[in-house]
Amino acid sequence: MNLIDLPQSAHRHADDTGDLPPCIICGRPIRAKSPKHLHIVGGGSLVLSPADDEEYTDTAADMGYHPVGAGCLKKHPQLKAYAILLED
Ligand SMILES: [Zn+2]
Repeated sequence: MNLIDLPQSAHRHADDTGDLPPCIICGRPIRAKSPKHLHIVGGGSLVLSPADDEEYTDTAADMGYHPVGAGCLKKHPQLKAYAILLED
């Protein structure tokens, strides 16, 4: 199973935009219409590879999918293989 650490942002924003959840890493509002999402597990500290979705059975530690901004994907290229578009 492929898991990587969720990067921590040193400058996490606390913007509360109301409607849409902010970027899981930096906390900035996401303006993209179809942002990529990361599957956050391990109680919030790990990112699960989309290919291993069904193998992860620890539902208590499964935080579900969270959006990630394009800027953070650029800053953390190791996340690119883990970021997926969710189907509506
Ligand atoms: Zn971000």
